[in-house]
Amino acid sequence: MENKKNLIKQDPEVTKIINKEAKRQSEELEFIASENYVSPAIMEAMGSVLTNKYSEGYPGSRYYGGNAVVDEIENLAIERAKKLFSAEHVNVQPLSGSPANAAVYFAFLKPGDKVMGLKLDHGGHLSHGHPVNFSGMLYNFVQYELDSKTGRVDMEKVREVALRERPKMIVAGYSAYSREIDWAGFKKIADEIGAVTFADIAHTAGLIAAGLLENPVPIFDVISTTTHKTLRGPRGAIVMCKEKFAKQVDRAVFPGMQGGPHDHITAAKAVAFGEALQPEFKVYAEQVIKNATAMAEEFLQRGYRVVSGGTDNHLLVVDMTSKGITGKECEIVLEKIGISVSRSTIPNDPNPPMNPSGVRFGTPAATTRGMKESEIKQVVSWIDDAINDRNEDFKLESLKEEVKNLCSKFPVPGIKL
Ligand SMILES: *Cc1c(COP(=O)(O)O)cnc(C)c1O
Repeated sequence: MENKKNLIKQDPEVTKIINKEAKRQSEELEFIASENYVSPAIMEAMGSVLTNKYSEGYPGSRYYGGNAVVDEIENLAIERAKKLFSAEHVNVQPLSGSPANAAVYFAFLKPGDKVMGLKLDHGGHLSHGHPVNFSGMLYNFVQYELDSKTGRVDMEKVREVALRERPKMIVAGYSAYSREIDWAGFKKIADEIGAVTFADIAHTAGLIAAGLLENPVPIFDVISTTTHKTLRGPRGAIVMCKEKFAKQVDRAVFPGMQGGPHDHITAAKAVAFGEALQPEFKVYAEQVIKNATAMAEEFLQRGYRVVSGGTDNHLLVVDMTSKGITGKECEIVLEKIGISVSRSTIPNDPNPPMNPSGVRFGTPAATTRGMKESEIKQVVSWIDDAINDRNEDFKLESLKEEVKNLCSKFPVPGIKL
């Protein structure tokens, strides 16, 4: 296992649990679209002495002493992120995606202001106005939808809702949407009503950084992203914006939303941005898309309905009711054979959110292990078998062995058992 000699000695109880998770990660397959495996270098930066520091404020103006070194790491992370996304201004302090989005709303809106976002069960995120989330409680969200036939954003309807509702902000960028987003189209509509444009690229940031999907950063006013999904960095987030919004965004992050930044995570973000700037990262991101495309094709060939008919990015949503099973049932069956996925609603889902019709699959993690189209197609055939033979325990047992066997040939970076 990893080199944790102090932890083993001091706290065998915690060590045992961590090792159990390492074993699970290495013997099972991850197809949850929001997950990935960080490099050992990123892991080491996260486990560094920078966690000992307090550094409220920003480089050059901190509220604590002893921050000259921390300033260096934060500036390096900022410079790399600027280069990666062609951003005018970057704040690297947000602790995660939801706090980053809270800061964005806080920077541009007052409680009660109207915001337009994608309907949640059409692929939006909790922090885009769900009634149980702060966003839905504090702001007045109105919603646009996907076209139920094409499964894609219908820009005509977006314009219609925008002109009727006149929101102060328009949000684009989603959690379960497999197609390119027409950033320029959104910007044009927003300009007609003077709305702020906010892109949440949490899911696709790595593919955008690699130049494989269109980059909203030069087009939109403000952009947030997590750093731990396709971008393959530590858990965390950043906010980017035009220079003219820099002050209000920085003030919203600190002292508006957060206290001290997590400097060890800032260092790990800098390492991740450094990795994403390398040519190898582009090769990785290309393979992520090739694998997702292969996965969609294989599901289609086996008679499954894929929302929107395919994918342009790292994920796909499959309507499992086309095989007489719900998304939740499918999630449970696949867990039995060592494949992790997440249930998902489909546009205009007739089933309730806790037991929706779809399953979302993503290829970033499997691609990090080195898997290519042929392995992905093999996995889909096992998924199909598991669904068809879901009541035959011995069949599921043997599929679990197949999965474990494949995993042994594609080790997770940094995990040695
Ligand atoms: C994952 C995600 C987030 C939130 O990320 P957390 O780090 O889990 O808070 C925000 N927006 C979108 C679109 C996401 O997919």
